[in-house]
Amino acid sequence: MASESSPVPSAPARSAALHASLGDAVRDAHVPLAKPEEATEAGNYFVANYPPFSFWQREQAGLVDEVLSRPRGSADLGVYFHIPFCRKRCHFCYFRVYTDRNAAEINGYLQAGLREFRLYGSKPYLAGRKPKFVYFGGGTPSYLSVAQLTELTTGMKELFPWDEAEEVAFEAEPGTLTEKKLEAIRDLGITRLSLGVENFDDHILELNGRAHRSKELHRAIAFAKALQFPQINIDLIAGMVDETEDNWKRCVEQAIGYQPESVTIYQMEVPYNTTIYQEMKAAGQLTAPVADWATKRHWVSYAFDEFEKAGYTVTSATTVVKDPEKTKFVYRDSLWAGADLLSAGVASFGHFAGMHYQNNADIGPYMMSLDQGQLPVYRAYQTNAEERLLREFILRLKLGRITSSYYVEKYGVDPRESFAQPLAYLQSEGFLTLAGDVITLNREGLLQVDRLLHEFFLPQHRHARYT
Ligand code: SF4
Repeated sequence: MASESSPVPSAPARSAALHASLGDAVRDAHVPLAKPEEATEAGNYFVANYPPFSFWQREQAGLVDEVLSRPRGSADLGVYFHIPFCRKRCHFCYFRVYTDRNAAEINGYLQAGLREFRLYGSKPYLAGRKPKFVYFGGGTPSYLSVAQLTELTTGMKELFPWDEAEEVAFEAEPGTLTEKKLEAIRDLGITRLSLGVENFDDHILELNGRAHRSKELHRAIAFAKALQFPQINIDLIAGMVDETEDNWKRCVEQAIGYQPESVTIYQMEVPYNTTIYQEMKAAGQLTAPVADWATKRHWVSYAFDEFEKAGYTVTSATTVVKDPEKTKFVYRDSLWAGADLLSAGVASFGHFAGMHYQNNADIGPYMMSLDQGQLPVYRAYQTNAEERLLREFILRLKLGRITSSYYVEKYGVDPRESFAQPLAYLQSEGFLTLAGDVITLNREGLLQVDRLLHEFFLPQHRHARYT
């Protein structure tokens, strides 16, 4: 548990304190749910962490080093590396990406990343620990050449060996993949290849600024299948610009046709730092030129139904898997349960023993910190015991089904009591059921869980700018 090495009270004391403060907070702050905002407006919709990122502070960045000077941690450990390079910027993208860097600049960035891993490897809290999961995200990890990937991963493995990792996930843009590169990626020890398909239609791909087209998609999926990756994941987005019901149905059909081990389906959001929002602003529009939320929920629900008919199981608000016994999302489940995450690379988000942190979001200052032998942490947030419980409750509710006994055992708190009011409210609104120990979101609740989660936020974190 991440909280094991945090300065928190013993379980009974924690239990009493949390009961009192959460109950008061929820009672004081509860306001009825606003009517669903059905038009898609600008802003982040999805809840990716708690407390919201806008509360993380520059002043707390120095505390990360204090955590890292503690004795070796015993929580599960994950390692993440952010590769911020893409062939071109998608119009809906809100990540830190660069589309204009040459091979020498990319090599310089990878060397900086290895310096960052070396700094972490020298810290008592991390020294000698092996990751349970490894994740390459971006950006586009598959933008790197085979030589760059080999050098990067060799260096990472020397510091944090992967031989005990249960999962090594790798995000790929289909247009960057050749059979040779895919073979090399598989041989690095990647267990989940996550293909950013998003849509199978060339017109929609082009209109939304994707770099690849359907021909490259089909070729990449065929290569990946032939190379027998342990898990192939296809990413889809419901509600891209110009999406139609008929096209969405064809996308779902094609995804099922490939029989991937898992599929992640996101509903299109339009954060402020996207090209789409810039165009909305220039045109004075408040509503994004994409389907409204009700339509997106309808499309995801249709996809869930079709995948279920094909033998898949819905395992969260965004995932379906072919065989839930075999196919896991170790990264997601471990993180949501409070694992440590050593996160390296520009703008990346990590977590040590209850301390959230984010790296510098610009490549220049990020690399300069490492040149000076310093961690490039830009902002951080030390959670308290109450926030850690809330975080784990909120994030795991996105799985659609949780048991109260898990929280009683881990935190000495029964969420049915601590969150009685918002749970009763969501039950009365027809989004969830309480049966004995189990809290279950129904399909309607699951499809809009990120909106509902705000009911559980502490008063000071409501209405936060979620960026
Ligand atoms: S490929 Fe992904 S990270 Fe790169 S620009 Fe598109 S959405 Fe952003």
